[in-house]
Amino acid sequence: VCNPPAGADVKWYDPKVSPNIFEAMKETWLDNAKLQTLMTSFRENIERGLKKDTHPTSIVKCFPTYVQDLPDGTEKGKFLALDLGGTNFRVLLVELDVGKCDMKSKIFAIPADIMVGPGVDLFDHIASCLAEFVKEDDVVDQILPLGFTFSFPLMQKGLCVGILERWTKGFNCDGVIGEDVVKLLNEAIQRRDDVKIDVCAVLNDTTGTLMSCAWKNKNCRIGLIVGTGNNACYVETQQNAEMFDEPDMGSGKVIINLEMGAFGDDGALDCIRTDIDKSLDEDSVNAGRQLHEKMISGMYLGELVRLYMVKFTKDGLMFEGKLSDALQERDKFTCTYLSEIEADQPGKYIRQREILNEMGLSYASEQDCINIRYICECISRRSAHLIAAAMVTLINKMGETNVTIGVDGSVYKYHPHFRRLMIQKMTELIKPGFTFDVMLSEDGSGRGAALVAAVAAKKKPA
Ligand code: BGC
Ligand code: MG
Repeated sequence: VCNPPAGADVKWYDPKVSPNIFEAMKETWLDNAKLQTLMTSFRENIERGLKKDTHPTSIVKCFPTYVQDLPDGTEKGKFLALDLGGTNFRVLLVELDVGKCDMKSKIFAIPADIMVGPGVDLFDHIASCLAEFVKEDDVVDQILPLGFTFSFPLMQKGLCVGILERWTKGFNCDGVIGEDVVKLLNEAIQRRDDVKIDVCAVLNDTTGTLMSCAWKNKNCRIGLIVGTGNNACYVETQQNAEMFDEPDMGSGKVIINLEMGAFGDDGALDCIRTDIDKSLDEDSVNAGRQLHEKMISGMYLGELVRLYMVKFTKDGLMFEGKLSDALQERDKFTCTYLSEIEADQPGKYIRQREILNEMGLSYASEQDCINIRYICECISRRSAHLIAAAMVTLINKMGETNVTIGVDGSVYKYHPHFRRLMIQKMTELIKPGFTFDVMLSEDGSGRGAALVAAVAAKKKPA
């Protein structure tokens, strides 16, 4: 792959794209001036979230996580971890030793009806998976500390108290918003009466990602997820984190869970949202919410491409004006498709042809293929550029000149160009004299959960 120098005026798109489609998609292009405007507004949003008087009405919540220390590599112990909130639900057994980490894990499905059913059913399901796991792994007699990675907006009131503020990413279970999810988990475990668990920390996946990278890299200050959902956390001084209300254990710092997916829910993104963004939002289970996330994360990118394809077909610009059934089905065109289409060698449409067949579009022309790739590129670039703007805002806010960002999530990991696009744009936007690194997190939700539990245990008075 050829990496053009940052800022170079290279044509990243195929010049053979149909002119009408080329022009129409320009509404998704974000130039640096637009990104700078968003950065200013994002920065203001963060300040509002951190401050006591503006926090209650702030859109970007900046929840303190109660994690005050990053790991130093000397953490030890055996932990259980739960990971809920992405594509899969997992239970893990994590063993930490100096510089070493062994993990065993099992993936469980969350049936679609449980995702939108009563909350008790969700927590009973989690407890039953956990019971199955500890029995199989023969740790049923040990009361192991458990770290619960719960990747939704939690207002934390301590390391192991987390009140759900809202559901995101297609989850919508009754009776959980406003409740402490650790209490709900403990109650479900008690209802079963066959396992004993000590839940000692609840955390966001971004926190897990930051911890897991900081364990290896001492410059890591930001945890970022670009997966099914999108969010980031960063290290803030306790002085700025006005909502943080526990005594300083010595570091003077606390990790802040931004919940940046909600950015724009008050109109801050109206200047860049398109009719397609609006129509995706209107048909979602959480209309009007998580508007930034809906332009960025894997749950939505494929759907945005599909909506553009439908629009252009109806306008007679694609597929000779003929829609297939699959093309009209919501969420049928996945983010995996988008990644795969962009992974085809430029000018070759090998995987794309298979995808078009799966979408009932075997009658697509070569010109359609060119156009589809371009639509995918526009959507993934926009996502990467929004992330770049957000990351540079955080680096500016922290004022540290050499920050490492720990990243995880399916879009970042599997999209063939996302990382490059993000880094290129960050390089353009960052202030002179500042440098950064972007590192892939290895299983933040598992190892990170264990690290949060271990770091907390170190500080606990004996
Ligand atoms: C949630 C965040 C989470 C992110 C990535 C968002 O929808 O609100 O809490 O960190 O997804 O999983
Ligand atoms: Mg995850």
